[in-house]
Amino acid sequence: MTQIAYVNGAYAPLAHAAVSIQDRGFQFGDAVYEVWGVRGGRLLDRDAHIVRLKRSLSELRIALPMPETALMAVVRETQRRNRVRNGLIYLQISRGQAPRDHAFPAANVRPTLVVTAKNLDMAALEARLSAGVKIVTVPDIRWARCDIKTTSLLPNVLAKQTAREAGAYEAWFVDKDGFVTEGSSSNAWILDADAHLRTRALTNDILHGITRAAVLRVARERGLKVMESAFTVAEAQAAREAFMTAASAPLVPIVWIDDKIVGDGRPGPLACSLRAAYLGASISD
Ligand code: PMP
Repeated sequence: MTQIAYVNGAYAPLAHAAVSIQDRGFQFGDAVYEVWGVRGGRLLDRDAHIVRLKRSLSELRIALPMPETALMAVVRETQRRNRVRNGLIYLQISRGQAPRDHAFPAANVRPTLVVTAKNLDMAALEARLSAGVKIVTVPDIRWARCDIKTTSLLPNVLAKQTAREAGAYEAWFVDKDGFVTEGSSSNAWILDADAHLRTRALTNDILHGITRAAVLRVARERGLKVMESAFTVAEAQAAREAFMTAASAPLVPIVWIDDKIVGDGRPGPLACSLRAAYLGASISD
């Protein structure tokens, strides 16, 4: 089936959809994005992603290109045209197209809006979930505003490539004090040796993951001992369980960190049950 993309007011086959080479997203990574997971045709955490999108835009002083309801209509229509039932919706807004100059362009330059949608290979995802994945750790070389969901992802790209070349699924960034910040495209979690569920607290050092927030909610509702506190690589390797969260793959168990096996080397029971609870709680109307 031909994939369809929305670009600035028109739907076109992906192969023909294009933005200008003068687009600031292309020139400077001057753009933000969002990704929704889709399950059974429904968006996961629909509203929370919009709230974060608006925050990213306002931090960078980029205007919302259309009212929120119109934007969501585009998201829905892109999903419909691509017949996405279990997959992802990607939305990107750049500061727009203008002659190359680092400073912002004239106020009348309109932001560029791109939306795409695709089905995921659910069998491959299930296989990953039942086996668990390996991750590697890399130094966190990113900037001081990792809370903004910008398309400027070069350190994340390099980290993910390091993971791939090591036969791993994800890379965890480690700060200069030896604490894990987050994954290259996911948040990082452990169930530590004292049975505390831990994930790093929200600061500008990490993306404020929507799946992270929802999993925290579900965990607290279940009365788990939850701590928003950083952990070291050694603590993660000695943990009972480790997992990662992201809209693109809600909760993936980790069974290998660098050269150490986590727990008994199989996906942990807590990760699996939290995943089911999360999916149940986060499907939007
Ligand atoms: N951290 C980073 C760096 C990410 O790119 C992502 C996924 N976009 C996440 C965390 C997870 O965020 P979310 O749960 O909102 O997808």
